[in-house]
Amino acid sequence: MNLYRPEEECGIFGIYNHQEAANLTYLGLYALQHRGQESCGIVSSDGSHLYSHKSMGLVADVFGNQEVFKYLPGRSAIGHVRYSTTGESVIKNVQPILVNYSRGSIAVAHNGNIVNAQMIKDELEAWGSIFQTTMDTEIIVHLLAASKSSSLIEGIVESLQRIKGAYCLLFLTEKMMVAARDPYGFRPLCLGKLGGSYVVASETCALDLIEAEYIRDVEPGEVIVIDEKGVTSYFPLRKVQPSPCIFEFVYFARPDSYVFGKNVYMVRKELGRQLAREHKIDADIVIPVPDSGVPAALGYAEESGLRFELGLIRNHYVGRTFIEPQQSIRHFGVKIKLNPVHEALNGKRVVVIDDSIVRGTTSRKIVKMVRNAGASEVHVRISSPPTSYPCYYGIDTPNRKELISSSHTVDEIRRYITADSLGYLSEEGLLNAVGAPCDNYCRACFSGGYPVTFPKLGPEPQLGLFEKE
Ligand code: AMP
Repeated sequence: MNLYRPEEECGIFGIYNHQEAANLTYLGLYALQHRGQESCGIVSSDGSHLYSHKSMGLVADVFGNQEVFKYLPGRSAIGHVRYSTTGESVIKNVQPILVNYSRGSIAVAHNGNIVNAQMIKDELEAWGSIFQTTMDTEIIVHLLAASKSSSLIEGIVESLQRIKGAYCLLFLTEKMMVAARDPYGFRPLCLGKLGGSYVVASETCALDLIEAEYIRDVEPGEVIVIDEKGVTSYFPLRKVQPSPCIFEFVYFARPDSYVFGKNVYMVRKELGRQLAREHKIDADIVIPVPDSGVPAALGYAEESGLRFELGLIRNHYVGRTFIEPQQSIRHFGVKIKLNPVHEALNGKRVVVIDDSIVRGTTSRKIVKMVRNAGASEVHVRISSPPTSYPCYYGIDTPNRKELISSSHTVDEIRRYITADSLGYLSEEGLLNAVGAPCDNYCRACFSGGYPVTFPKLGPEPQLGLFEKE
């Protein structure tokens, strides 16, 4: 019995009724590349058949050759980018999943993690289902195929009623596109319009790229059907208090996106300002760990009155070190990506801002790098609370024992990363900075308070090893 690997960190995009559906999906995936760099795929529909192209690799590598679009005809398409974990980086797990069943063909793209996937899989296997992948997403297809309901939508709803956890889903059939978001609304999903076409995407930055107009977010618990009649909305799932993921603001989403109704860049700057209020320090300059630390460092500099400098330069042509799973290569990660600017750092008391510490590897290397470049003091400030608990709802975090703050105090971590001082944003500060409209963000990674429990979880899932994006 294999425990499912969570479908962590993915991005989804879909468009209905556009003559260049697959091409626009390619662009949409391009904008969502930060949500998954390991594999990607597009399924298109010409009204009577579905067509698929998917592969390991970045969006530009898989779809850069315009030839592939000849094989993705039709006016509707959905796409997926996936950030998988070591060991499971296999082509059979690339999405969207496309199957033929009694009603015709259906493709599914999923962002999130179904926490009761194993339980349902065991049940389905006992009834004779044969699974092709190790993705939790596949159970949705099996539930759909097994459904006795009279319509596809009822079948989808029936399947959704069985699954628990985090999901943003896009379904594509010959004739319609369906979007669904779990009742907690863990992951973001938005609806847009481009002329007479409808677009659904994980983040608004994908709408911006194709110049689609943002209409609204897909609501938690909402199922949206898009077909020739237009857009029909249903709320067929049990209502709960939504718990959108606060880590989307801290790290994961792109700063130009609006998620859960807020601009990510503005939120990150406010996290930095709040951090400065909580952890002042006498210093000469503030530098970000690029790119994820930049908005918070700007906020910190603004609030503290300290000068903002770019003390570390990032090589933008290096993917996540995680893409190379071998330990020997991962070791070079930070050096490949970041280089210090000696002129800016030499003789300075430096405040280094990053969004989070996971294992402590990145911060440790950065502190060393900044000191070697001549900094007289290195103070690390983190624009989120200590990450002490793994995420089971779609963010790739290692298991608990690898999270440095699950077993070390702030001062022990400070010593490990060899900083002169270390300050994390408080949970209260984080919540205040993110602010309304939601007062119930999922922050399980910081607090351990998981909104959805995990039936039959078994041993703690061994999520992948990664270094910094
Ligand atoms: P570590 O070296 O393990 O402490 O990782 C810390 C770095 O990883 C920080 O610079 C974060 O920006 C980055 N980070 C935090 N969460 C994630 C994630 N889920 N995936 C990739 N990178 C992350």
